Amino acid sequence: MTDSAAHSFESLTSGHCRPQAAALAFDSTGEFRALDSYFPITRMLDKAGIDSFYQLVQRVARHPCFDLRLIGANKTNLTPHMPASARHLVAGHLAEVFFFRQDILARFLSRPRHFQLYVTPEAYRQDGGISGGCYSPSREAIQLLLSRLFEGFNSPTPGVCPFLHELGHMLDHFDARTGKMGKAKGLYPGLSPGDGDLFTPKAREFFLKGKRLELTRYLSRLRGDLSQPMPIGHPYVFQNDGEFAAGYLEMFFRNPHYFAQQNADLFAAYVELFGCDTRRAWTQDFPHYVNANRSFYASGKKPPKTRLTLPKE
Ligand SMILES: [Zn+2]
Repeated sequence: MTDSAAHSFESLTSGHCRPQAAALAFDSTGEFRALDSYFPITRMLDKAGIDSFYQLVQRVARHPCFDLRLIGANKTNLTPHMPASARHLVAGHLAEVFFFRQDILARFLSRPRHFQLYVTPEAYRQDGGISGGCYSPSREAIQLLLSRLFEGFNSPTPGVCPFLHELGHMLDHFDARTGKMGKAKGLYPGLSPGDGDLFTPKAREFFLKGKRLELTRYLSRLRGDLSQPMPIGHPYVFQNDGEFAAGYLEMFFRNPHYFAQQNADLFAAYVELFGCDTRRAWTQDFPHYVNANRSFYASGKKPPKTRLTLPKE
């Protein structure tokens, strides 16, 4: 059975996308628990919690505003051929991020939200895709290679997750007040006083404090002052507020222990905003983001200038 699932990925993507056995098992059996390894949240929920998590995944996957497309060469619409695993992985990431904040998820899905997956790098480029994945403000869509959905899942615990990074950008562009996509401000829904009943004042307070500390630490590295602790994120995410929002979202869901040790206030902002402490799902962090980031700052190389700003109090 999984052979035929593997074969359909093979022919759909000309061999560009070879998902893990777990995804293929889901495609051939429809058994949701086969997807557990994609969602660390399942390690902190009991049986009833896991059931309600997968019910949410299905509600998102079927939601009329969940506009997920599969695009082939020359912009061919291949959505009817989308493997079930791809649909439920994307829906699952949304469900995982917002499992404890379904109020934010409901507002997010109050209008069509666009996600565009591509079968090959060529198809991605032909439709204007930039670098390995992106959020396009003009089409209000995440654009990502299908294969990148499966990228960080070859080890026993999840690793890099390009979708979560791009979701960080998308959430930054989402205006919870109007329900529309808008200008990025470096803030997730729930962090702005104008977000109405979604506004989470404590999260904003911690976010300001924590982001200020990260910026202070980054600036001291920039001056060559090594006396303070390192910032958590790589210089890449200090380019601007958008990359900060994208990068730190991903790290909250991948290396929460290091995150919390380095900057308790910023970690508390995410716990308040997303309603859960992700450390409960991780006995050990995904080490790559910790090590790659630390080794940059330890190298003594001067990090590039930053355009990071702090939201007004
Ligand atoms: Zn980015």
